[in-house]
Amino acid sequence: MKIMKFGGTSVGKPERMHQVKDLIAKGDEPKIVVLSALSGTTNALVGIGDALAAGDKATAKSKIDQLQKHYEQFCDELFSSAEAKKEGLKIIQEHFEFLNIILKISFNEAINKDILAQGELLSTKLFYELLSELGIKSVFLPALEFMSIDENNEPELPKIQERLGKLLAENPREKIFVTQGYICKNYRNEVDNLKRGGSDYTASLIGAAISASVVEIWTDIDGMHNNDPRIVDKTRPIAKLSFEEAAELAYFGAKILHPASIWPAQQFNVPVKLLNTMEPDALGTTITADMSEIGGVKALAGKDGITAIKIKSSRMLLAYGFLRRVFEVFEKYKTSIDMITTSEVAISLTIDDITHLEEIKSELAAFGHVEIDHNLSIICIVGNLIMEQNGVLQNIMNSLADIPLRMVSYGGSKHNVSVLVDAAYKNSALKSLNRGLFEF
Ligand code: ASP
Ligand code: MG
Repeated sequence: MKIMKFGGTSVGKPERMHQVKDLIAKGDEPKIVVLSALSGTTNALVGIGDALAAGDKATAKSKIDQLQKHYEQFCDELFSSAEAKKEGLKIIQEHFEFLNIILKISFNEAINKDILAQGELLSTKLFYELLSELGIKSVFLPALEFMSIDENNEPELPKIQERLGKLLAENPREKIFVTQGYICKNYRNEVDNLKRGGSDYTASLIGAAISASVVEIWTDIDGMHNNDPRIVDKTRPIAKLSFEEAAELAYFGAKILHPASIWPAQQFNVPVKLLNTMEPDALGTTITADMSEIGGVKALAGKDGITAIKIKSSRMLLAYGFLRRVFEVFEKYKTSIDMITTSEVAISLTIDDITHLEEIKSELAAFGHVEIDHNLSIICIVGNLIMEQNGVLQNIMNSLADIPLRMVSYGGSKHNVSVLVDAAYKNSALKSLNRGLFEF
């Protein structure tokens, strides 16, 4: 059994949804189809939630009405028969009625999560209806019946496995299952989600839970590129990546894949394929455990919004336990650290979540002098065995000769070199590296 996940743009227009239908109807292998909300919907729902959080019901109402019109139009174009159109409208009415009821009750975070869930509920129900209209047999698999997170917001894979296994066993002969990405239940049994872009994560978790043959992530570009196509002209898709390389790239800025979506597939050794709905026959990118390929730099990615923290302390000299005490501060505030470099008397590290920066800063002050730099970017250079190859680091440094480097991280893994630059230098760093590493 395989997993086929389609992102918002792949289902965002009626004709695109028809393409998805063609793709999933092909082949004999049973599949679980995971859908995102139609493109723009989750943003609109966030807007509705924000308006309600601010007590602005009028704005929320007008956003709801606008979104409803969009869906009514979508439905009209999606279905051919009057009967299916009527069914589609019924689905839309039901969900917008729910949003309108929310307008009348007092708003809280649990309700906000309910609002955010409407996008995936709508897209999957409409798609399921489309399949029935066309006589394609499928089973509707509500994600809220099997996908769950614990009190730390971590997916409960063994439970997911058990519940999903049961649901699938109830339909032993079926070939197509349709479910929602992104949404889940939390430990209070409330509707929750896997954070923005989380449908990829859903697909990978399901893939792991059922030991799928492959997790296919269908988007609107032809795989993971060797550099950011929005910044650099000459980029090309990478045919093969290892899980480690893909995780580094996804985490450090490659937008095509949710960073958390690698580990479940990796743990259960399920290959992940990044494919293009617009060009279904293109090779795309295949991510597997295979590291056997020859080394070399494969790809670059840049991540914005980075803050660097430097702690200088002469007490660090010859001291043990210093790093632990520093890290405990970050642990206390649930803030993860990306890059670290140390000298004998100072430590520099980076974070991207600055929610608790002030508390962190004041606690770190007990260890020494603390300096904070905002507005930085991490440039991540990924490949196989970069470390063991002569000249790679030299090539990287030569390419970056004109760019001031705030931090360099080399040796953390065999697959990655990261440099930290002022955000103003991000684009030129990616372009210079592209020239130096790929265009010779
Ligand atoms: N619809 C959700 C979002 O836009 C989840 C996803 O698309 O992956 O973030
Ligand atoms: Mg996405």
